[in-house]
Amino acid sequence: MAEAGEEETASVEASGFSDLSDSELVECLDLEDAKASAVSLSKPGSSELPGKDDKPVSLQTWKEGLDVLSPMERFHLNYLYVTDLCTQNWCELQMVYGKELPGSLAPEKAAVLDTGASIHLAKELELHDLVTIPITTREDAWAVKFLNILSMIPTLQSEGRIREFPVFGEVEGIFLVGVIDELHYTAKGELELAELKTRRRPVLPLSAQRKKDCFQVSLYKCLFDAMVQGKVTPASLAHHTKLCPDRPLGPAVLRHARQGGVSVKSLGDLTELVFLSLTLSDLPAIDTLKLEYVHQETAAVLGTEIVAFEEKEVKSRVQHYVAYWMGHRDPQGVDVEEAWKCRSCDYGDICAWRRDGGALSSPLEPKTKKLK
Ligand code: SF4
Repeated sequence: MAEAGEEETASVEASGFSDLSDSELVECLDLEDAKASAVSLSKPGSSELPGKDDKPVSLQTWKEGLDVLSPMERFHLNYLYVTDLCTQNWCELQMVYGKELPGSLAPEKAAVLDTGASIHLAKELELHDLVTIPITTREDAWAVKFLNILSMIPTLQSEGRIREFPVFGEVEGIFLVGVIDELHYTAKGELELAELKTRRRPVLPLSAQRKKDCFQVSLYKCLFDAMVQGKVTPASLAHHTKLCPDRPLGPAVLRHARQGGVSVKSLGDLTELVFLSLTLSDLPAIDTLKLEYVHQETAAVLGTEIVAFEEKEVKSRVQHYVAYWMGHRDPQGVDVEEAWKCRSCDYGDICAWRRDGGALSSPLEPKTKKLK
């Protein structure tokens, strides 16, 4: 399978606990999004958090920002990763600190994530070779995603096993992007999504973490099913991602496309082809969702869990999280009964929510942004 080249930046979100491994950790941020984020963080007023000192960070900036800009606008984001919503599920405020203070991930946590990513990569290499394709534009990056999808559709149609399948689509007004770890068919012929989670310690995660993992695979199902059912459209993709369909693709991408028997010139050509292939592929919706927990050091399987897909619950949770991104409410920290999460949080020393005992109190009393 093709992977985008070195110009992209790995997306590693501080998740608040170290035993996390996720296909999206090897998924890459688009060039322009990465640049835009860097710009936003250097703008006066957009990030005045002083960093990790002994004082709680004032969240006044967030309050001021809420008056005029939604977090989507303030962070210059066109879309979110599934990982963003999952870290929100763990602690929303921690996710926001991770965006405000990129690079604050503790070295030991980064090392664990790296190990997890390496295990994912090794699993992928069991199924196919990886080809690195140099890219220079966001359109190139999306073209690589699309070429990967085109190469995997026939395998899925012939009931084969694939890894790292890109998914995307609009959910509750927000465009979400993710990567499904693995898809295969069970002995009963059902299409199963399998998500591998590697663990630093040889024990199963706590229920709060499993809840977050269940939410993640449920989101993947929503995105995948919508894609194969023709509910994701090129217009929606173009609207949210602001990609330029007529921009010519880079020579390396075009060469890779030709080698795979795909004759296109621009992202627009490729988008049409991919959406047509998805809708005509007759691929089924995902039948079962499975989580597999594996010990990093020994590769021993610690346990598996079949996840019940609760559509209404997923939808209402997404609506709640999206309300933050749209700027309709302030970010929230953990509930009192989950205060144990703060003990292993990278932002515990600077967290205003923790300092104030579970509220963004004065000068940051919760304030609802007027709907536009
Ligand atoms: S200290 Fe607690 S409330 Fe604050 S960001 Fe971390 S986990 Fe969330």
